[in-house]
Amino acid sequence: MKADKYIKNYINGALVPPLSGEYFDNISPANGEVYSHIPDSDQADVQQAVDAAQKAFKEWSSFGVEKRFRILSRIADIIEQNLETFAMAETTDSGKPISMSKTVDIPRAHANLRFFATAIMHFASESHFMEGHAINFTLRQPIGVVGCISPWNLPLYLFTWKIAPALAAGNCVVAKPSEITPMTAYLLAKACMEAGLPPGVLNIVHGYGPKAGQAIVEHPNIKAISFTGGTSTGREIARTAAPMFKKLSLELGGKNPNIIFADCDFDRMIFDTLRSSFSNNGQICLCGSRIFVEKPIYEKFRDELVKRTQFLKVGDPFSPMTDLGALVSRSHKEKVMSYIELAKVEGGTILCGGKAVEMQGQLANGYYLRPTVIEGLEVGCRTNMEEIFGPVVTLTPFETEEEVIQYANMVDYGLSATVWTQDISRAHRVAEQLQAGVVWINCWLLRDLRTPFGGVKNSGVGREGGLEALRFFTEPKNVCIKY
Ligand code: NDP
Repeated sequence: MKADKYIKNYINGALVPPLSGEYFDNISPANGEVYSHIPDSDQADVQQAVDAAQKAFKEWSSFGVEKRFRILSRIADIIEQNLETFAMAETTDSGKPISMSKTVDIPRAHANLRFFATAIMHFASESHFMEGHAINFTLRQPIGVVGCISPWNLPLYLFTWKIAPALAAGNCVVAKPSEITPMTAYLLAKACMEAGLPPGVLNIVHGYGPKAGQAIVEHPNIKAISFTGGTSTGREIARTAAPMFKKLSLELGGKNPNIIFADCDFDRMIFDTLRSSFSNNGQICLCGSRIFVEKPIYEKFRDELVKRTQFLKVGDPFSPMTDLGALVSRSHKEKVMSYIELAKVEGGTILCGGKAVEMQGQLANGYYLRPTVIEGLEVGCRTNMEEIFGPVVTLTPFETEEEVIQYANMVDYGLSATVWTQDISRAHRVAEQLQAGVVWINCWLLRDLRTPFGGVKNSGVGREGGLEALRFFTEPKNVCIKY
């Protein structure tokens, strides 16, 4: 299995060029160089994918769960056996450290496939007994052809997180990865072919969001859309899909609070706070970019965080010593840097970072930025309210529980929150009041795939994970039998 120079669409079981014959460049963020070419697919390619998916649906949906389990497990095995190739492709595309691709992104991708391959074997529906005269039972049937659209930050990880439950539940899929990180989706297509996935069951169309992505969202025969990405894109998708009465799952942006009480286990907290601030260059929707620290430990915390941040090694994503690789694209780096400038204008003090890293030699044109810690901002300023999605955190001291809950909830987002305290009653009280879909107490990014995952407010609609995903990708039908 190899990452070719010309990526192809995967339609009806075959790797095919875009109908228009047009491609655009795929750039490696590590060095800013073009290293492959991406199909510039459009509505015509999506139409072919939908036709193939519709044709495949009858057979795939009646295959039986054991057969689907076997094929999805085989795909997982192939990804695992080709860890090196997949990890190299992920790092080349995204600029993330190779250690992360090898230990997080790719392992989670095959875990997603295995998780949903087995979950469908245990998936059951409800029955409602009407004493003495009737029984209702709920049939859960696949929807038909569904669309899955994913972002660039955790490319194969999030792509499979959607595709696996959709396929396991018996749907056929038309999917689009982010045009910024398409290579592992291309390799996934090869894995599907090798695993014997029937033609048309999964179709992967590459290209730009507003063109290929939009064509998926507005296609009348695609009955559900599962989307992860930015809030403004999610709004656009909802605008198109809602009047067509499509089922929608939207996992959107975040601006997550990390709340640190003075009684926390400081060592554990500081270790995880460094991770929750800068993992994947802060380009994880769950990163805690607003750090609130109880006053008695504010200075101690600030000094320790800054010291540890300065030790982080920014550099070659392919070096095993690297902590932070390149940001995903030139435009994203510029966006993050513009927020650092905004923070200065808003009165913030840059405690460390705040600058691009000037690399030498082959990496001179890559997109590197020092991890940045800022203090002294008003809690409601733009830097604290808008998603930056980069290696930038802000520090704000607080005095009381009520005050910090108000700070945490004052943004338009509500994806996740982290709380550090040894006081179990306070932990429960705060968790209950936080406006977030996921709350971590004394940990961060500890994920159990069975739990519901998603956000409130502008962070999204619906839940992924475990049975929630299988419920999303099936249509419940109540059957009432009178006797
Ligand atoms: P975008 O919203 O820009 O893109 C996400 C996907 O949507 C891409 O595949 C993109 O294609 C596609 N797309 C863009 N426009 C349209 C359209 N009009 N119709 C259909 N599809 C479209 O997000 P990013 O890729 O920049 O990802 C970063 C964002 O994702 C952040 O806001 C982050 O918080 C969020 N995110 C949320 C997560 C969650 O679970 N809640 C998890 C991870 C990230 P293309 O790239 O080709 O333009």
